[in-house]
Amino acid sequence: MQDLLNDLAEAAAGDPDKGEVASYIPELAGINPEQFGIAIALADGQVFTAGDAEVPFSIQSVSKVFALALALGRVGDQLWYRVGREPSGLSFDSILLLEREDGIPRNPFINAGALVTTDTYLAGSSPKEALGELLRFVRAAADDDSIHINEKVAHSEIATGHRNFSLAHYLASHGNLRSTVGKVLGTYCHQCGVEMTCRQLAMAGRFLVDAQEMPQLVSVERRRRINALMMTCGHYDGSGDFAFRVGLPGKSGVGGGILVISPGRASIAVWSPGLNRYGNSKLGTEAMETFARRTGWSVFG
Ligand code: GLU
Repeated sequence: MQDLLNDLAEAAAGDPDKGEVASYIPELAGINPEQFGIAIALADGQVFTAGDAEVPFSIQSVSKVFALALALGRVGDQLWYRVGREPSGLSFDSILLLEREDGIPRNPFINAGALVTTDTYLAGSSPKEALGELLRFVRAAADDDSIHINEKVAHSEIATGHRNFSLAHYLASHGNLRSTVGKVLGTYCHQCGVEMTCRQLAMAGRFLVDAQEMPQLVSVERRRRINALMMTCGHYDGSGDFAFRVGLPGKSGVGGGILVISPGRASIAVWSPGLNRYGNSKLGTEAMETFARRTGWSVFG
């Protein structure tokens, strides 16, 4: 495993095309695209890393996985009255389908759907309490109390998140938000501002791996469903491509991180800030494709 991860880090370093760093969040625009890290937490408790696996990065939309687990913990299947479970085939921040589908976002991983899951775990609490709950969950999952939110990234996103504000207003106009737009956006942007290293993220993803030694934070049914949504919707309009190339459930973020689950085997985190045309880590996706080929791991047998 160590040799494989070293090979992936080496291949990434030698690839001249690193993709484009997300520039719409000013605080992320200056990140060095030359970085690449990977970490794997195996079912037997061993952890292997390579490259920049100890460098913290902004997990951005990977946080939507933890938010979904929290929202389901709060309201269970009631959540599905407010958000769907179908891929959107559109970019992560598209507003198009919201109008046609009466303010019910297609799935919890596009931004509109994630605003609903954030609104769900925020209901009845202050943003501070809700974010405290989120951090408690992530820290318990990773077994690491040092995980924190980067305030600068959160504020940079609040200051420039016009599109997310418009999605939230649209949801509110359809009666699909319980808290105010300001509270939901503030909480959502802080959630996206959670910072982790590849090692921490691989550890945090262990609750989605079906293995005895891993933290059991959600029921078996819920774990399966979260994995199913990661497979079908975790890479926005690149989800089909990721399933085709990698064959494992994954959730990407515009910070360049991807959390990948191999059920029963491992939780894997890969990070490289340059993105492909779908807004998913370019080198991260390529590394996972090689990883899946070399290990033979796939949920498709
Ligand atoms: N915080 C980002 C946004 O709302 C998340 C998008 C992503 O990571 O894909 O625009």
